[in-house]
Amino acid sequence: MYLKKQIKSDLNMKVLKFGGTSVGSPENMRAVMKIITDGEQKIVVLSAMSGTTNALVEIAGLLWKKNRETAGISIGQLEASYKKIVKELFESEENKKKGLKIVKSAFNTVKTFTSGKFSKVGENTILAQGELISTQLFTLMMVENGYQAKLLPALDFMRIDEDKMADSQYISNHIEKVMDAIGDADYYITQGYICRNAEGEIDNLQRGGSDYTASLIGAAIDAEEIQIWTDIDGFHNNDPRYVENTKKINQLSFYEAAELAYFGAKILHPQTVFPARVQNIPVRLKNTMNPADSGTLITSESSGAGIKAVAAKDGITAIKIRSDRMLMAYGFLKSVFRVFEKYKTPIDMISTSEVAVSLTIDNTEQLKKILNDLDKFGTVEVDRDMTIICIVGDIIAEERGFASKVFNALDGIPIRMISYGGSRHNISVLVPNSHKQTTLRALSNNLLNNGN
Ligand code: ADP
Ligand code: ASP
Ligand code: MG
Repeated sequence: MYLKKQIKSDLNMKVLKFGGTSVGSPENMRAVMKIITDGEQKIVVLSAMSGTTNALVEIAGLLWKKNRETAGISIGQLEASYKKIVKELFESEENKKKGLKIVKSAFNTVKTFTSGKFSKVGENTILAQGELISTQLFTLMMVENGYQAKLLPALDFMRIDEDKMADSQYISNHIEKVMDAIGDADYYITQGYICRNAEGEIDNLQRGGSDYTASLIGAAIDAEEIQIWTDIDGFHNNDPRYVENTKKINQLSFYEAAELAYFGAKILHPQTVFPARVQNIPVRLKNTMNPADSGTLITSESSGAGIKAVAAKDGITAIKIRSDRMLMAYGFLKSVFRVFEKYKTPIDMISTSEVAVSLTIDNTEQLKKILNDLDKFGTVEVDRDMTIICIVGDIIAEERGFASKVFNALDGIPIRMISYGGSRHNISVLVPNSHKQTTLRALSNNLLNNGN
């Protein structure tokens, strides 16, 4: 089947991303095929089948610990599950054979790392196999069903730089060349999550990164729309994994969605919104299991006054630096921030008093060195296992008394830090992780689901 082609210089296509559950079984893959084959040429970004990346992370973990025997068993189990999938996915014997070849080759790659010294490159190569398998199997299934689908290899255009940031210039310079090289197709199927780093080695965009891939591709080709297809009907006003009776939000602004994603709403990888916002490309969240639902639309439009949603980001460490030198002094905060800059550790929240500054980080890789350097400034206290709860909406447009509503809702919850006024879109509070669910529920009951 050949569709009318777009003019390449103006790739006015949509980019559709399907997550792990959406491609998690042969049946779901067929549902995805049905969704995408609507007569429009498009780029389709796929995650690994659900559970695969977790299994690969576990395998890599075992190899780091030199537990090769257990790693070998896990590899065998995962490979066996894929052999079963192949048998169900394809009709013809020829395609079943081709499918098994794809699986065998990916697992042979994994097995090469079960001897010798294990390395970061080995780990990243193992982690990449989930998306490499799902996209190859999916493309073959599309072709078997008579569609003109081609594999668009993400490793040929998706890049991060020395600072592990997406290299958008490289991506837009290369993606159309790669598309030209593989030739015309109705459906370009590419891997989410995986990329190469500045050294040209296989790397990735961090867990959940397929959303970010879709957004980066969308921005690179100036797509008409970026669609993130998942296992829920859109962005909810609270985390459905912790709170009952959450409600879908029909529309969000880029800023609101970015805050929520950054502060833990798992439905979107934290960086997804940024490339779309820069290029002003609408992002639509859709449910693979219920395609008729309109989902959530994220655009530059304000979504109206009021509180829209809350999200929670776990694994936060709070650091308090108390110093008399801070009193009436300038340059103190600068010296503190310089320590975090030196160790390339981003700060999420900050609050200050006359003699102390508290801030939070989620990346603790360099914590020891950071604390060592901060010791020079005064007394340093560290609280681990904290959670940032982020309350998002158009807060300025909200009537007066907004802050008091939030604080009333949080009555009785031990708040460690508050950040308010940094933007018109967000109030954040820091609570011990043990109080996360109570806090989310309190906000749902008092702020979100009572007509506010
Ligand atoms: P995918 O594999 O498709 O990328 P994810 O598991 O990464 O899917 O994201 C979808 C999940 O995000 C939902 O099933 C839901 O449990 C969780 N989630 C967390 N916060 C929210 C939210 N605010 N709205 C919707 N889903 C959310
Ligand atoms: N497969 C990767 C993960 O599980 C990327 C993604 O699903 O977005 O993290
Ligand atoms: Mg995801």
